[in-house]
Order: sequence, then structure tokens, then C-alpha cells
Amino acid sequence: MKYDYDVLTIGLGPAGMAVSLMAVEMGLKVAAVERRFLGGECMNVGCIPSKSLLSMAKTRHAVRRFPVMELRNGHPPAIGRPFEKIRGYLKYINDAKTAGMFEKIDLFLQEGDAEFADPHTVKVGAKTLTAKRIFIATGTSPLVPPIPGLADVDYLTNENLFDLEGVPESLLIIGGGAIGCEMAQAFARLGCKATIVHMDAQLVPQGDPEAAAILQQQFEAEGITVYNGREITRIERKDGGDIVLHTKQGEQLVGRRLLLAAGRQIPLAGLKLENAGVAHTKRGITVDARLRASAKHIFAVGDCNGQHLFSHAAMHQGMIALMNAMLPGPMKRNFRSFVVPWTVFSDPQVSQVGLTEKQLQERGIPYEVFRANYEDYGAAIAEAVDTGFVKVFASKWGKIYGAVIVGEGSGEMINEWALAVQSRTRLHQLMLLQHSFPTMGFLSKRVAEIWMVKRMQESATMRWLARFMYRL
Ligand SMILES: Cc1cc2nc3c(=O)[nH]c(=O)nc-3n(C[C@H](O)[C@H](O)[C@H](O)COP(=O)(O)OP(=O)(O)OC[C@H]3O[C@@H](n4cnc5c(N)ncnc54)[C@H](O)[C@@H]3O)c2cc1C
Repeated sequence: MKYDYDVLTIGLGPAGMAVSLMAVEMGLKVAAVERRFLGGECMNVGCIPSKSLLSMAKTRHAVRRFPVMELRNGHPPAIGRPFEKIRGYLKYINDAKTAGMFEKIDLFLQEGDAEFADPHTVKVGAKTLTAKRIFIATGTSPLVPPIPGLADVDYLTNENLFDLEGVPESLLIIGGGAIGCEMAQAFARLGCKATIVHMDAQLVPQGDPEAAAILQQQFEAEGITVYNGREITRIERKDGGDIVLHTKQGEQLVGRRLLLAAGRQIPLAGLKLENAGVAHTKRGITVDARLRASAKHIFAVGDCNGQHLFSHAAMHQGMIALMNAMLPGPMKRNFRSFVVPWTVFSDPQVSQVGLTEKQLQERGIPYEVFRANYEDYGAAIAEAVDTGFVKVFASKWGKIYGAVIVGEGSGEMINEWALAVQSRTRLHQLMLLQHSFPTMGFLSKRVAEIWMVKRMQESATMRWLARFMYRL
């Protein structure tokens, strides 16, 4: 059968962009459908605008901590119109950078929602497109929890947060995950009274408890109020416009605006997946290890398969799925075999890769903990970033299972540990690797040295052998 295209991508976030841009460079005939904006959530209402806001907030906070100019009434100068600036950056990136990438692709932008007519045919508005292989990359949308009274409130989500004209006087945030934490700190540093309310026992619930404790301590020091383990029973809108969250624990928490950051949902109904024989659950499109859906010429990549909700994972899956569509059987790759590092871009940043301590305990894997603290590192002290730690879970003989880094630059540093876990590099190899000094990354080498020192201290035989060989 002859098709219009070799590759058809639905959705142009990080996953869909990775597929289409790689496929066109391979010389394939590519079509891409995007109902809203190039770059998807990440570029327009996710990673990029949120990091831009955090960066402005960090600058303002730094001026407050280390005033280089006289503060007015103890406050640093206001950062004028942060959201307008962000919108300006996004427009520039989209117009000057992203748009030009799609010249060699048949792009169906803002022509409607794609839906399956049959396993090889997708409809967009009045158009019908057929393709040999189809890559679904339609992402997620914010979860709106079924809390009584929520519908009566003009709430914010990441979809409209960056459309604000100014920083509100106070912000209630439902959700203590990455988005909730990042936005609480950004808004607080821009002069807003931020409050996080969530059900889990700790901030960033999927992460390390010690990391969460440091984050909470920092947040409280910056005036952010954190309510862990709370159930919101009702939301009320007062006459003057204030919003009140009623908790099961009896609190009434008041704020001017409300941000929902309570998780994601995967909306799939509009795609008419049943016409293509693609199975799915509430947790996303079902995929096998090669990222194929139940119809084997259809792949589901990025957030829409519900596996790892990160942009880098989405891009990686796009690449792996396309490789799997091309490579012969034995060379196909299992996407689950790749490690997925992640970072919460708060200050201090919290980053993690590999197995957590809890997972190691659940799986009965013997491990030891090796750590180096920022507070013991001269460079960190001198740069006034002496909060945090590098903590590594490894076997006695240096097999690395996982790492947690809290502190300045941890989002960059975690990549080294991701490489180590994925490539089965051992601690002695990191010890032998020179690390540029005085970077914060040097703390990673220090962990490897601490491991070696511990081995020496514990083993009289190793010490004897070292002495013996030295004196030969
Ligand atoms: C505030 C915030 C901050 C974040 N920060 C980070 C971060 O720092 N690091 C990180 O790794 N991740 C971050 N994320 C998560 C990241 O945005 C997502 O993991 C990533 O965007 C997923 O990429 P994707 O390609 O799977 O889907 P998306 O980026 O969601 O793109 C899907 C695209 O498909 C389109 N689409 C959907 N249905 C159809 C249809 N029927 N027809 C046509 N088009 C359709 C949508 O319009 C959308 O453009 C953040 C998310 C949020 C909300």
C-alpha cells in the first residue's frame, strides 16, 4: 500500500519534535500535526517560562541577600513586568528559532485536532493524511481535582499562569511536586506570599526525604508556608475575591489567587484511538519496551504514555522510537533500559537519578551511603552556596545504584551520575577522573574519594597491602 508519508507525528512538543526533525534529516517524508503551538507544553507553558521566572526571581533574591544598592524599605527593586518579559522571550524563540526548523516538514499547525480514521489514516479538519508509521506525542494537561467549590474559583494552572499581568499579593498552591515547589519559590521571591498545600508527607514526594526536608527549611526561611499531609475538603470564594481552602485538619487558608499543580491527566478521547486499535488506560497509551502501541506501526512517545513526565525523557523516547522503527530486530532498543535523571529547579536545586534508598530497601539490595556536604567545601562556602549534599548509594565495591544531589548546580552535576549508572561506571573510576576545580561538580569526585577512604579504614588487609607495595 502507498501512503502519503513515511512518518506522521501528532503533537509537536519535545517528543514529536524529536521524531519529526530526526526523521526529516534521515531523508524520510514527514508530516506533523500540532493543534496549538510549536514546542508543546515545555516551550510555551512549562519548562521554559517557569525557568525564566525562576531566574528573574533568583536575581531579585540575590539583590536582597547581597545588596549592591540601597534597598527601599528593606525591599530590592521590583523586577518590572516579569510575565511580559517571558512572553517576549517565548515569542522570540518561537519566531526566530523554532519556526525555521520545520521547513522540510509538511506542517499542519492550528488546523484542528488530529484524530484517527483508521490505523494508517489521520484526519485534521477537512484534511486526510495517511502514513506508514504514526507517532503519537500528544502530552498531558493539568489535573483538576474534584474538590467542591473549585469550579466557582478563577483558578490558575500552568496553561494560564504565564498570562498574568502581575505578581499577585498572595498565592495558594495545591501540589508539592516539582511545579508547585518551583512556582512557590519564584512567586515568593518576586514579592508574593506563597502557600503550598498538598496531601503527601513531604515536598517532592517521589524524591529523597532528606532533600525534601532541606527544601522545606529553605522555603520556610523565605516566608513560604508549607502544609504537608493535608486534604482539602472545600474551596470557597469570598465576596471580596479572596479564596479560602478548607482542610480536613480544620485549617482555613486564605489567598488572592489559586494555582493548581496537583498532577497531570492524559486526555486521549479526542484522538479516536479505537479507530486505530490502540489500547490505553487512564495512565496513558499502553506501550511495549520498544515504545510501540498495541497497533505495531504506531508509537506513543513522551508524556502521553505516562512513563516519565519530563521533557528530556520525551525527546529521548522520540529518538528511541524512531530508531526502533528503522533498526533490525536485534538492534532495537528497550527504552526502559535508559536511566532518567530529574531536577527540581528550586534553590537549592534537587536532583536525582537511579534507585532511591527506599527502592533499594524494598528490593533487598545491600548498599552503603557515601556523601559529601556543600558546607564542608571551601568553594561552596566562599560562593555562599553552602547548603546541600551529594549522596550516593553504592555497593561496598563501588557499584553505583543511585545518586541524590541537593545544592547549587545539582541539575548539571546529576548528568555525570546518570552516565555512571547507565554505563556501569564504578566509584573508583570517578575517583580517577579529574574534575575541574573549583566547580560544585568537584564534590562528586570527593564522594568517590570518601568511598575509597572508607574501604581503606575498614580493611586492615588493604592498608597492609598498600604499605607493603609502597615499601617494596
Ligand atoms: C510548569 C511546568 C514546568 C515544567 N518543567 C520541566 C522541567 O524543568 N524539566 C522537564 O524535563 N520537564 C518539565 N515539565 C514537563 C514537560 O513540560 C513535559 O514533560 C514535556 O512537555 C512533555 O513533552 P511531550 O512532547 O510528551 O508533550 P507536550 O509538550 O505536552 O506536547 C504535546 C503537544 O501535542 C499537541 N496535541 C495534543 N493533542 C493533539 C491532537 N489531537 N492533535 C494535534 N496536536 C495535539 C499539544 O497541543 C501539545 O503541543 C514541566 C511542566 C510544567 C507544566
